Amino acid sequence: MSKVEAFLTPQEEQEIISAIRVAEKNTSGEIRVHIEASTEKNHDERSLEVFHLLKMNNTKDENAVLIYVAVKDKKFVIYGDKGINKIVDADFWNSTKDIMQNHFKNSNFKQGIVDGILKAGEELKTHFPWQIDDEDELSNEISKG
Ligand code: CA
Ligand code: CA
Repeated sequence: MSKVEAFLTPQEEQEIISAIRVAEKNTSGEIRVHIEASTEKNHDERSLEVFHLLKMNNTKDENAVLIYVAVKDKKFVIYGDKGINKIVDADFWNSTKDIMQNHFKNSNFKQGIVDGILKAGEELKTHFPWQIDDEDELSNEISKG
């Protein structure tokens, strides 16, 4: 089994997808998770590349958030689109990153991602509350590369 497949059980993947659904009930923002083994690139650059590959730069309010995880490299990045970065402080995602980091340190990857998603949803809610005409603009499925 590859590193990426062994990273999360099917049950854990379902829990992550459920967390995305829960988070997106409170905000118009869109959250996606991408998991891959490793990259030769800088992880910030690679997360930006994946963000575009997944067409996450096309949301109406430019408020999509990518949680990128490179399993073998033991790295993750939270990347938010322009619409978010325009209106929030630079450390907007720090509390989310800390929560994830603490779980990852103890190899609780599923819980780290789930809590990261829920926290990101809460952060997004303040600036991008859910609206009656909200659409699910991006798939909630986990992307694997
Ligand atoms: Ca939405
Ligand atoms: Ca979605």
